[in-house]
Amino acid sequence: MTYPTEGHPALLRGGDVIIVGGGLVGLATGAALSARGAEVTIVADHNAGEASRAAAGMLAPSVERSDGPAHTFAVAARDLYPSYVEALAEVTGIVVPLNRDGILELVFDERRADATRADVFALGGRWLSASELKSLEPAISPSAVGAFHFPDDGAVDNVALLRVLREMVEASSTVSIIHDRVMSIDLENERPWVVLESGRTMIGTKLVIAAGAWSPAIEGLPRPIPIEPVRGQMMSLGSAPIHHVTYAGDGYVVPRSSAHCVVGSTMEHVGFAPGTTPEGLRTLSETAERIAPALASARPLEKWSGLRPVTPDLLPIMGPDPDYPMLLYACGHSRNGILLGPLTGECVAALASGETPALDLSPFSVERFAGSRVTVK
Ligand SMILES: Cc1cc2nc3c(=O)[nH]c(=O)nc-3n(C[C@H](O)[C@H](O)[C@H](O)COP(=O)(O)OP(=O)(O)OC[C@H]3O[C@@H](n4cnc5c(N)ncnc54)[C@H](O)[C@@H]3O)c2cc1C
Repeated sequence: MTYPTEGHPALLRGGDVIIVGGGLVGLATGAALSARGAEVTIVADHNAGEASRAAAGMLAPSVERSDGPAHTFAVAARDLYPSYVEALAEVTGIVVPLNRDGILELVFDERRADATRADVFALGGRWLSASELKSLEPAISPSAVGAFHFPDDGAVDNVALLRVLREMVEASSTVSIIHDRVMSIDLENERPWVVLESGRTMIGTKLVIAAGAWSPAIEGLPRPIPIEPVRGQMMSLGSAPIHHVTYAGDGYVVPRSSAHCVVGSTMEHVGFAPGTTPEGLRTLSETAERIAPALASARPLEKWSGLRPVTPDLLPIMGPDPDYPMLLYACGHSRNGILLGPLTGECVAALASGETPALDLSPFSVERFAGSRVTVK
């Protein structure tokens, strides 16, 4: 078969797979395809509020609970991490920090603990009484009546992970990263055509949409994809009095080193408006103090925000378009894209290579939204 760019020097060859987006999901997919020897082009634009850099890096399928095969996927995604960062270290020589000390979910009201105890035990969690909690984490607030401990959850340094993945992908002889923006796609030919902001057109064999919260804005998608940006504000503090990732309600503290921690986060439906607000930062300070009172006097280091790509059921959209199998979705990872990113990359790379993915992707099909009016939570 002749490649349609032949005789059309203005057309760019995208190779076997064009990936739209260079966040964690796009890079992990590129890396997994590179390992299979596929020729890949990642088209990566920069936008304020990119989620993968902004995130807290928690690997928390037990706290951010889902059901059935979606939960099985999330647990497998968490359990992939140790071998994933080890393989990255073998190739790049850089060890991405991974914390698998478990996650604490503080309980301030014993009745709430009783109501969720059975669910927690089914997820492999255990109950820590106030005294057990105090001996494990002396700096945790004495107002907690206890905590659930999920021993297999943890956190990754997502900023380091992104940097290492990017370096690895850039060093690959089969992957090119180009800095441009995909404006529109055309799926009516034998292969997908992609129109870039620079005015060029690129042709590949398969096309992966991994553009986070910006995915629905790509013109020419065969169906609307219900993804909304949901802003999360974050801050870091120059102290880490606790060692475990710790949740209190919707807020959390993630120790990043012996000398600093990150605190998150808000869930704000404000459109594409990254940035922090005095009110948002006040909420984060209150969360930090509620978890570990010593953090009230910690030195503020940085503040930032990111835009989560949120779907109505908080599950990602993954897999082929039912009408255009050359188009694969890998977007909408909502609150858990750091957790799910590496396994998403492996599964989408398998699909793009004509293999059967290792896990069931049916809960994530775009078809689950067909014909329904959808509202993002
Ligand atoms: C404050 C906050 C805290 C979070 N904490 C956690 C956590 O603890 N654990 C967890 O698992 N998840 C967490 N998440 C969620 C997680 O960060 C996201 O689900 C995940 O990063 C999404 O990755 P992505 O690659 O799809 O999107 P992004 O990282 O946003 O990347 C998308 C990329 O595509 C580019 N792009 C967009 N449009 C185009 C285009 N047309 N052409 C080319 N490029 C384009 C963008 O510029 C961007 O670089 C958090 C998110 C936020 C905001």
